[in-house]
Amino acid sequence: MNCNICDQKLKFILEPHKNKIGISSESKFLEVKLSKLFLCKKCYYFQKKTHQKKKNFYSKYYNLLMKNFYQDQILFVGKKKTFRAEIQRDIIVSNLKKNEKKILEVGCGKGLTAFKIKKEKNIKIDLVDEGKEKYIFFWNRYLKGSKMMKNISMVKKNNYSLAYSFFVLEHVQNPYLFIKKVLNTVEINGKAIFFVPDIEKNIGDLLTVDHLNHFSAFALECLALKIHKNFNYDFKVTKNERLRALNLTIFKKIKKKNTKKKI
Ligand SMILES: [Zn+2]
Repeated sequence: MNCNICDQKLKFILEPHKNKIGISSESKFLEVKLSKLFLCKKCYYFQKKTHQKKKNFYSKYYNLLMKNFYQDQILFVGKKKTFRAEIQRDIIVSNLKKNEKKILEVGCGKGLTAFKIKKEKNIKIDLVDEGKEKYIFFWNRYLKGSKMMKNISMVKKNNYSLAYSFFVLEHVQNPYLFIKKVLNTVEINGKAIFFVPDIEKNIGDLLTVDHLNHFSAFALECLALKIHKNFNYDFKVTKNERLRALNLTIFKKIKKKNTKKKI
């Protein structure tokens, strides 16, 4: 198996399941045919290969925070209690331009973050999630007026000034191709924002069978550099302590290849 980022041969580390049972990101037991963890020593990136027994996992079996629409995860920063969707709302709101009209959330789940952004800002947020069939009830009820799609490939190209995704990149088969698809939906001079768990803050995540990618800040930079090399877009990678996550922001600005910029 080769690295999704640099294509170098990966080193096998372990099989994070026993008797064909693994642990999912919902902290539930999950039947798997195979789940193997590999490491790229060049990118310091962990890559997992998982074959699930059940098909259509995200539309049929993935039920994170589905008790009701407002159910959310509580995060502690020191002794302070906060809700995940509120932290995520604040991040996106602080990234909005003055007259932002329309943005896109990829992997929105039931749509609580989008709902909270819309409540604060008068803005249209289109939605994408593989589990559309399961979430459509919530979307129709709480996110009326949004365009609702199942797959990123269905989204209109060059259409949004901002596209964002929270904790999706770790689930996809190929993060490079996923980022490319998200960038396709963004107009020139727009940006794409991705959040992923920081493996240095969530080491147990290596055992989660449906998380197929595990990034250190260095690994995420390697991935962003590959995008930069191929498209010449600028980027930044930062750490977010409250979400114990890494943030990759890519600026879809067309630059002349020979323009040198001081860093
Ligand atoms: Zn690599």
